[in-house]
Amino acid sequence: MNKTPRMKMREQDVEVRNRNFLEVALGYSYEEAIEEAKRCIDCKNPRCVMACPVRVKIPEFIKYLLEGALETAFETIYEDNILPSICGRVCPQESQCEGACILGIKQEAVNIGALERFVGDYGMEHNLADQTEVKNNGTKVAVVGSGPAGLANAASLRKKGYDVTIFEALHDFGGVLKYGIPDFRLPKDIVAHEIDNLKTMGVTFVKNAVIGKSLTIEQLMKEEGYKAVFIGSGAGLPSSLGVPGENLNGVYYANEFLTRVNLMKSRAIPTSKTPIKLGNNIAVVGGGNVAMDAARTAKRLGAENVFILYRRGREGLPARLDEIHHAEAEGIDMRLLTNPVEIIGENHIVKQVRCEKMKLGEPDSSGRRRPLGTGEFVTYDIDNIIISIGQKPNPIIKDNTANLDTQPWGGIITDEFHMTSIPGVFAGGDVVTGAATVILAMGTGKDAAHHMDEYLQNLH
Ligand code: FAD
Ligand code: SF4
Repeated sequence: MNKTPRMKMREQDVEVRNRNFLEVALGYSYEEAIEEAKRCIDCKNPRCVMACPVRVKIPEFIKYLLEGALETAFETIYEDNILPSICGRVCPQESQCEGACILGIKQEAVNIGALERFVGDYGMEHNLADQTEVKNNGTKVAVVGSGPAGLANAASLRKKGYDVTIFEALHDFGGVLKYGIPDFRLPKDIVAHEIDNLKTMGVTFVKNAVIGKSLTIEQLMKEEGYKAVFIGSGAGLPSSLGVPGENLNGVYYANEFLTRVNLMKSRAIPTSKTPIKLGNNIAVVGGGNVAMDAARTAKRLGAENVFILYRRGREGLPARLDEIHHAEAEGIDMRLLTNPVEIIGENHIVKQVRCEKMKLGEPDSSGRRRPLGTGEFVTYDIDNIIISIGQKPNPIIKDNTANLDTQPWGGIITDEFHMTSIPGVFAGGDVVTGAATVILAMGTGKDAAHHMDEYLQNLH
């Protein structure tokens, strides 16, 4: 077995990156990518492929990379994943492809994410994405939301010849890729490049179009002539903590905070119309990617002390390992087994957060050990608190669409073909699963396109 250690990726120095929003991880050079690719032992039964939600043919693309056939390596990935530069950067590889890599049993897994990023970036630099002009078949399909689910759905349907229009509520496209995940993890020119590819393929993009408000699903189908609709409207509504003091000034929800910083450029304090001014002591509640992004963003906005409050232990943190490591290296303090029970203010302004210390009990339905209160409390002085304990779908579509079946928490219910309770209306991504991952959203968007095609063929 190959004993060469995993090739480290170069990164911006901590002291420098803490003061800018540029990408932290700098990627592999060609030589570094080749060295890392050599570690793949080309298993007969590649478990990594089965562990990738869209089944990227990993050993195959790595083999092409080793042969220097970068174009073919790109095409091999692209058959299954239209967003390789993005997934290579943000997939939780340790619980997907790399988590199943056989090398990982005795040493570190092959850095599949970094190799996919390298090949994806090569494809982007050389404009290799398939932009073949497909003849329009005249059948109109509407896609609601321009996140990874909507983009993947639109790309697949456009390739089949459908006249696809994406309706996006915001003034920019890309969903969470654009307004959630910060530039220091996912530079926005990468997202813009993917959107441009779709425009070149002939997909129409309409911005500032809130479906359920400016137009309903029913109007799209009955008045605007769309024969099928895909809802990929995500889970953008933050869950509240449900503790006293949550409405004080200085309390933010991570989604709103990140959207203002990423999309509305609130970090440009002297010039922004919606500036975000933080104090020096910031608590961030939650342990997922969103919480890490909010904490690292707060640090870059100049806050001196940023700490995470999380009710479980380190092994329960749901964020990607890289994000946890990067956050800690940047000085984010992890206050684990600590659960906020009250936000305390003075003159309506946040001053402190009171927390209960927790211990771990028996595993709960998620398989993780349940956090239990100890009856011991601790109070921290804070200037702001950013809440990041989960998101659910915005109810606007559900409330304005008759006969659309939803879960009690607001998620849209679909069958095995991704069709909702309304014939011709399909859905996928976070609006169905609840907050999940880019690749899962992309996978359902693509799969739904296949079934939408079957449905539309049968209409004729
Ligand atoms: P979204 O990306 O949410 O896109 C939905 C789009 O629909 C949005 O643009 C929204 O404006 C639009 N929309 C909503 N309602 C309407 C309407 N009524 N009409 C028209 N348009 C509408 N996943 C990972 O895999 N790795 C990560 O590192 C990671 N980090 C994350 C960090 C943050 C800060 C956040 C918030 C999420 C992160 N995720 C990560 C999760 C991942 O981004 C999501 O699972 C994924 O984006 C879901 O894709 P989607 O297309 O379903 O929805
Ligand atoms: Fe791994 Fe994500 Fe690429 Fe699949 S898409 S191979 S899970 S990095």
